[in-house]
Formats: sequence, C-alpha cells, structure tokens
Amino acid sequence: SKSNIGFIGLGNMGNHMAKNLMKKGESIVVFDISKESVNSLTTDGEKINNLLRAQAASSPSEVAANCEKIITMLPSNPHVKEVYTGNNGILSGVKKGSLLLDSSTIDPAVSRHVGEQCQAKGASYMDCPVSGGVNAARDGILTFMVGGDSAKFEEAKSILEKMGKNIIQCGELGTGNSAKICNNMLLAISMIGTSETMNLGVKLGLKPELLAQILNMSTGRCWSSELYNPYPGILPNVPSSNDYQGGFGSALMRKDLGLSQDAASATKSATPLGKKAFEIYSEMSDKGFGQKDFSSALKFIQDVLEK
Ligand code: NAD
Repeated sequence: SKSNIGFIGLGNMGNHMAKNLMKKGESIVVFDISKESVNSLTTDGEKINNLLRAQAASSPSEVAANCEKIITMLPSNPHVKEVYTGNNGILSGVKKGSLLLDSSTIDPAVSRHVGEQCQAKGASYMDCPVSGGVNAARDGILTFMVGGDSAKFEEAKSILEKMGKNIIQCGELGTGNSAKICNNMLLAISMIGTSETMNLGVKLGLKPELLAQILNMSTGRCWSSELYNPYPGILPNVPSSNDYQGGFGSALMRKDLGLSQDAASATKSATPLGKKAFEIYSEMSDKGFGQKDFSSALKFIQDVLEK
C-alpha cells in the first residue's frame, strides 16, 4: 500500500501545495503550529476526495515517525532549524532512508548545516525553494530549485512535480537557495521599479490600465508589471486588487533580501540595488507593511515616501 507524505508548514504557500498533493492522489500527514491552518487543510482534504484525507499530527517528530517523505514550507532559518533539530523535531523521529524536502527560502549555509545533520541520521535532505507566488502554488505550476545529492533527484522530482511545473537541479546542497535568493533580489528590485513607475505615470495623467498595457508590450515589461501589477484594479486575483492581503509578505521579502545581502558580503559582490531594496523593504516592515503583500511597495511610496 502507498505511504503517506508528510507536510509541515501550511501557510500561504504550503496550504495550496499540500492540497495539490491530495488532488494528485496522495494521503498526507500535516503539522503546523497554527491550529487554524491545520483545520482548513484537514477539512478541505475531505472535500477534495472522499478516499483521501489529511491527517493531523501533533509534532514534526510524529510526522517523521509516520512518513518517509516529508515536505517543509516554513518562514525562515530559525523555523527550519526548530522543525528539523528542535525538541520533537523531525530528526527526533526520522526513519533511516527518509527523503526530506525543504521548500522554505533560507540561508544556503543553513540548508547545508541542516542537511548534514539529516545525513548523520541516515536521511536525505534537499533544499527545494520555489518561485511562483501563491497563484502558482494554487495552480500547481511552481518552479522548484533543487540542491543536494544527485542520486536522490529523480525521487524528489517525482514528488515535486505534483506541485510544480519546472523542477530544476541546481547542484550540491544549498544551491537551490542560492538560486532562489538571487531571483528574489531581482524580483524585489523590479517590484519597487514597477511601483514607482506606475505611480509616476498615473500622476502624469495616464490611466493605470493603459500604462500597464503599454509597459507590458514594451521594454519595461517584467513579471511584476505583467502578472503581479502593484497598482490596484489592473489584474484580478492579485494581492494589489485585494488591499494587498495574502500573497508574499513584505517581511518575508525583507528576510530574503537580508539573505542575499549576507551572501553578497560573504562573496564580496557589489549589489547596489539589492542593498537599496533591502533598506526599502526593511522600512516597509517597520512601518506597518510587513504582513501586507510585497507589492504594497506602491502604497508605501504613496502613503509614506510622498507624505
Ligand atoms: P507563511 O508565513 O504564510 O507560512 C508559514 C507557515 O509556517 C505558517 O502557517 C506558520 O504557522 C508555520 N510555522 C511557523 N513556524 C512553525 C513551526 N515551528 N512548526 C510548524 N509550522 C510552523 O509563509 P509562506 O508565504 O507560505 O512562505 C513560506 C516560505 O516560502 C518562506 O520561506 C517564503 O520566503 C517562501 N516563498 C513564499 C512565496 C509567496 O509568494 N508567499 C513565494 C515563494 C517562496
């Protein structure tokens, strides 16, 4: 009979990813410190298919005792360390030969460190952070950037492709996160650029819809302008059209920019705009935008920088 897949961290992203595993026929065992997140998942699990269930576990250790394949989708470094190596963490219950896939965006050095501790317990750990946002998570079309033992890649891929479209092998442990933090540095820069551009253009008298249309058929086009426009009302189903709720929080973006700034220092790389973007998202997080989607850079420009 088929074994369960464990899923830990059922937030904005993990919730959708876990549901896609169920839709593809997997039974899952879930854990989150938020009871509400667990409940939404276990209830929806029954709605998706009578035969499939999301069962709740009481700790990461209990998930590990019941599942030899586990996905984690947590906010940042301390949460990943806690869930893997803390009291009642995965490593206190893990079975030999287990495959542990961490999709959180964290410091590549932390991935390497946690990965080595997993290896010492006879388990394989791979860093598999994602790109794509909540809609891509919902639609099962995420991009996964995978670092770790290449002998385990095909097995990891067979699971990840139930939640994603592109599964990219990056190299050794930690390289998935190296790719991810580079991508997000560019994303943050382009989101701030799109926000200040949209704001200026509208003040110059252009209709926001028209300006977006022109950008998207011109050389300024980018993901932020085309698929995640920060100006309210241009695209349906993006956070900017829903008071910047849901999506990818500005505090998480600040975290990712901190990771790329740490990496830039460690490698003596000059990242002038990455540094500026880190400063802007830090100020946003300090001034009440931390839990709003990162496209609220536009609202921050209007409500804070222009005041
Ligand atoms: P989130 O804050 O919405 O969800 C994180 C979940 O982890 C929450 O449900 C929280 O309760 C849970 N959690 C925290 N500590 C825990 C612990 N000790 N044990 C169990 N559960 C715990 O975050 P998210 O938006 O889903 O993002 C998750 C990761 O994915 C982050 O690293 C983020 O940078 C990355 N990411 C997010 C997006 C996005 O668009 N939201 C896109 C790509 C990557």
